[in-house]
Amino acid sequence: TTGKESSRDKKMEAILKSSFGFSAFRPYQKKVIQDILQGKDCLVVMATGSGKSLCYQVPPLVVGKTGIVVSPLISLMQDQVMALKQRGIMSEYLGSTQTDSTVQAKAENGQYNILFMTPEKACSVPISFWSKLQKAGICLFAVDEAHCISEWGHDFRVEYNRLDKLRDVLPGLPFVALTATATEKVRSDIISSLKMKDPQVTIGSFDRTNLFYGVKSFNRGPLFLNELVLDISKYLASGGSTIIYCTTIKDVEQIFKALEEAGISAGIYHGQMDKKARAESHRLFIRDELQIMVATIAFGMGIDKPNIRQVIHYGCPKSLESYYQESGRCGRDGMASVCWLYYTRSDFSKADFYCGESQTENQRRAIMESLMAAQQYCSLATCRRSFLLNYFGEKYQSDKCGNCDNCIVSKKERDMSKEAFLLLATIQSCRGKWGLNMPVDILRGSRAKKILDAQFDKLPLHGLGREYSSNWWKALASQLISQGYLTENIRDVYRTISISAKGEKFLNSTRDDCQLPLVLPVTSEM
Ligand code: ADP
Ligand code: ZN
Repeated sequence: TTGKESSRDKKMEAILKSSFGFSAFRPYQKKVIQDILQGKDCLVVMATGSGKSLCYQVPPLVVGKTGIVVSPLISLMQDQVMALKQRGIMSEYLGSTQTDSTVQAKAENGQYNILFMTPEKACSVPISFWSKLQKAGICLFAVDEAHCISEWGHDFRVEYNRLDKLRDVLPGLPFVALTATATEKVRSDIISSLKMKDPQVTIGSFDRTNLFYGVKSFNRGPLFLNELVLDISKYLASGGSTIIYCTTIKDVEQIFKALEEAGISAGIYHGQMDKKARAESHRLFIRDELQIMVATIAFGMGIDKPNIRQVIHYGCPKSLESYYQESGRCGRDGMASVCWLYYTRSDFSKADFYCGESQTENQRRAIMESLMAAQQYCSLATCRRSFLLNYFGEKYQSDKCGNCDNCIVSKKERDMSKEAFLLLATIQSCRGKWGLNMPVDILRGSRAKKILDAQFDKLPLHGLGREYSSNWWKALASQLISQGYLTENIRDVYRTISISAKGEKFLNSTRDDCQLPLVLPVTSEM
């Protein structure tokens, strides 16, 4: 290293201590900061809570120039600006019409270390703003939550896709993209959309070893609410805070009420509350005056609370990316914490609900694929951590983590070849044109109109599966999908099911009277 570099490294360390109060960089932080200081484009992919923000917060302080950070949400920027100001770091955000003109003028005079802005703002400020900023001195252009660039991400934002325009306006400035979403498609989309030149890609481990992962299936109703309240009171005994994420505002209100009736006090947070009430809820939770928060996902971006001990999902999120990010808000302090996901089957057939009118075919497909992966995670009989990490493209060293429900309680297994034969044969009779409901209804002997119309009531298999519930058959189907006997196909926002080559082989072996045994786990839905 040259003398200039080593004195810069010393300055970095000094700033880390004086401005942030940390004694050491995490290994990748140092490298990313050095890359940025050398003017290189960077892609930083790291789990939530791993400390990505520091990577763009330090360089501006080292060189005494402004760092620009694009961020998707005002609330997120407000939190960050507040935290930075508390550390004596000059910071503001652009994107709110009330304060923009003052902030803009100050920024042009180089008064900020870090200036946040929405992607909309970044694409709409006049070129003269950028040239004044450049004259005053700017050192990086960071794109936070960069997965919003990709149609394959779970939060696509059109304006994120236009940020490349700024490359010509800001030549030679390092672009730094940061995200906790690591799928290969999203990664390459970020690089190409931002026209990154020879980017330094830094990918950290996604493993949150202190988090326990567990999944339970449930049916909506008062019975389950009682069970949930019992579960929650058990968690409370272990101290710390709990977030309960619901998929709808209706669920938020219902759980809040159930807790209230059980004498457990909780806060509430969702998008339809007014701003003041939301801020108050947020404040009470952060200050430990409320131990439980029942909320929609409107609550969360930018929550940096170290002692959240449990994140419970009541209803499955739309993707594993969302799940990992939301559940990842617990245990930031490194202490053992738990993530429970409660799901019902209907969670997985909500693709139309997530697909707006304006979505392209690619986006609709991405939504379907995300939901299917989430479903797979729920139906899993093997290690959850290993599945999650593999899904995010990380090779997990072992197939048993010892810290998830499936690793701790090994599932009972039994020979289900008879049942599997019935299901596969029925699906074959439907000739791959249908989703799972049709064959299951046939097996259960339904005489619904759609069955009579297709004359499926005449099939010899009709009614042969009455002894099991429809959820039981669907749980079996999930196992057969994950073991490769069945294949799910996407047709727009719907799914059809068909038999794979492996499934064919199994069917034929049974027909030839030399049935292969098929031992499957007895999952919680069975
Ligand atoms: P991310 O953006 O990756 O989700 P954050 O930047 O919010 O993560 O950082 C998560 C937590 O880790 C914050 O509380 C932050 O202050 C802390 N942190 C970051 N870097 C360090 C470090 N080098 N030493 C100690 N704590 C750190
Ligand atoms: Zn495990």
